[in-house]
Amino acid sequence: MDGGKAIRESRDVDVPLAAAHFFYYAGWADKLQYAFAGRNPKSLGVAGQIIPWNFPLLMAAWKIAPALACGNTVVLKPAETTSLTAMKLAEIIQDCDLPPGVVNIISGAGATGAAIVNHPGINKIAFTGWTDVGKIIQRALAGTDKKYTLELGGKAANIVFEDAAIDQAVEGIVNGIFFNQGHVCCAGSRLFVQENIKDTLLKKLKDRMDTLIVGDPLDKNTDIGAINSKEQLKKIQNYIKIGTNEGGNCYQSNCVLPTKGFWCKPTLFMDVAQSSRIVQEEIFGPVLAVQTFRTAEEAIEKANNTPFGLSSGVWTDKGSKIFKVTSKIRAGVVWANTYNKFDPTSPFGGYKESGVGREGGMHGLDAYLKFN
Ligand code: NAP
Ligand code: MG
Repeated sequence: MDGGKAIRESRDVDVPLAAAHFFYYAGWADKLQYAFAGRNPKSLGVAGQIIPWNFPLLMAAWKIAPALACGNTVVLKPAETTSLTAMKLAEIIQDCDLPPGVVNIISGAGATGAAIVNHPGINKIAFTGWTDVGKIIQRALAGTDKKYTLELGGKAANIVFEDAAIDQAVEGIVNGIFFNQGHVCCAGSRLFVQENIKDTLLKKLKDRMDTLIVGDPLDKNTDIGAINSKEQLKKIQNYIKIGTNEGGNCYQSNCVLPTKGFWCKPTLFMDVAQSSRIVQEEIFGPVLAVQTFRTAEEAIEKANNTPFGLSSGVWTDKGSKIFKVTSKIRAGVVWANTYNKFDPTSPFGGYKESGVGREGGMHGLDAYLKFN
């Protein structure tokens, strides 16, 4: 109700993963001396944490759980459009009998985030959001002794080779770009298909797109919920215009949209150039840009040719090809024959303009500790 995502995804993904995150990091709390043997880990103090609207519960869990496990207190600011979720979480945290003042949740827009970033009493900043805002924060922190991690935007390549299990790949492409309305930093927003299977794959993909139900987020049959805000819908629609003006060949599923609210049909663009804005820029909506390739080298080169490096996907029947391709892709996470799968034990984060530092796993502890 707060963010617009489909209830099936909240129930099956966000809530269990948030709980798993707390459970996983709780396990580390009394083992830090062993995890960092000989390095004498100590808590940092106060962690300032700023999160986006796309996963309002899960992003809060990613931030709060490791900070507490390392003995810090937190001041967390949710995005203005999804602050109710964080307030609900605050109630749950209250029920857990944490001492007062250990977890503080403050609502407010960008200025509140900036006040946290610039506050002298804060020892660490953990930010997740747009790359442009991340750059502002990084500039503000330069020259201070605050530790920081930045989880920023992405424009992931999802690469499908001719020998992939094609129906499975189609499901992975759909999940990669249409999960959570495409409001996903690691969304597989650029599809690379090996040229000789393009026609077969696109036919199956369009057929599958036509079955997706867009609408009431509270209906358990809904696949694609509401776009989070009017502002974000405008941004997505503008990119669809840009893609068309750049000569892209647009396909949208023939689903019926509700009349009231913010909705976007699942959309794909064929015949796009590597230089197209819809190929280079993060749209953060259900819009997929499709390109083809002939050789693995060509796919790798094109996949790496963006300012981002958060995630990627590879679909093939050959283990050797998986190792060859994944080792050359400059992305923090590379999925093989699956997509958008998360686990608290596994680190997450970006190369290049997708961010600094890692969250998740043991790597996620490091960011909330000082040593010696
Ligand atoms: P955003 O506009 O950057 O906002 C993120 C948070 O920062 C919000 O709480 C926002 O407040 C706050 N903020 C805005 N200006 C600020 C400033 N000058 N100083 C401090 N805080 C400020 O991002 P968004 O639109 O919420 O989320 C979408 C972006 O998040 C996408 O780029 C996506 O890729 C990225 N993302 C990355 C990851 C990852 O792990 N790498 C995960 C999820 C999302 P208000 O919005 O309330 O004004
Ligand atoms: Mg914002």
